Amino acid sequence: MGDSKQEVSLTFWGVRGSTPCANKENMLFGGNTTCVQVHIPHSDEILILDSGTGIRNLGNKLVDQPGKISGRIFITHPHWDHIQGFPFFKPIYGSKNHFRIHMPEQENGESCKDILSGHLTKTFFPVTLDMIDANLEYTTQISERCEYEGYDIEFMFANHTINTAIYKIHVDGKQIVFCPDNEINQSAENADPDFYHRLEQFFDDVDLLIHDGQYNLDSYEGKQGWGHSAWENVVDFAAKSGVQRLFITHHDPDSGDQKLQALDRRIRAEFGDQFTSIQLAKEGETISC
Ligand SMILES: [Zn+2]
Ligand SMILES: [Zn+2]
Repeated sequence: MGDSKQEVSLTFWGVRGSTPCANKENMLFGGNTTCVQVHIPHSDEILILDSGTGIRNLGNKLVDQPGKISGRIFITHPHWDHIQGFPFFKPIYGSKNHFRIHMPEQENGESCKDILSGHLTKTFFPVTLDMIDANLEYTTQISERCEYEGYDIEFMFANHTINTAIYKIHVDGKQIVFCPDNEINQSAENADPDFYHRLEQFFDDVDLLIHDGQYNLDSYEGKQGWGHSAWENVVDFAAKSGVQRLFITHHDPDSGDQKLQALDRRIRAEFGDQFTSIQLAKEGETISC
């Protein structure tokens, strides 16, 4: 089961922020919320980052193949757009399957299991956690680097409205950073220099950064403190930090394909010389790392 590929690659299953948006003008970049699959070389274990609605399509693909399915889901934080797809991930209804779910502790002390079971109560959904057939284990993730099946993961906390991980995956000599929700604004009144120093170190020379760029500087006006970035600030910061390849994600649900296509062309042309590559993340795309 899984893909025993030779090299690291990743697939974007969902690249939207905030809410799914299945409008026809969004179908090129995709309407599903955040979910990324990382393909680990020589491993049958599935590695998933976030379980927004994009995870449904990934699950459908996985259950189409024979054999049991096992892997880990690292959730950055429990905002709806990062967990809403979880109950629609079909592998959790197969009794032979085994998934471990990881999430940082929340400020009120709620564990990963508390949060997912709170979301899956009869009030919100017909299926509760105890009705799920797969073997599920829950880990309240620590930020220190931990070793798993062919990769290591560590995280630092983002500048977001709740405890939110920025995950760094070390695999096959590469560093991949997944940061779908993070507000970069060094000129904000309450900007914490220590945070930006740590963030710059965390991004230093990473091979691939997937980062929130929900707004531009205009649309960011009036949304300071909401926990999301204007793409201009992200490009600046990533270039300064020595990021090699930058993928902007968590696209605003109101940013249609025309707008995103124009932005994609613009950032490639204007900032291409500052990175090995720079582009917008697009649902359904698989890229080698
Ligand atoms: Zn989000
Ligand atoms: Zn969020």
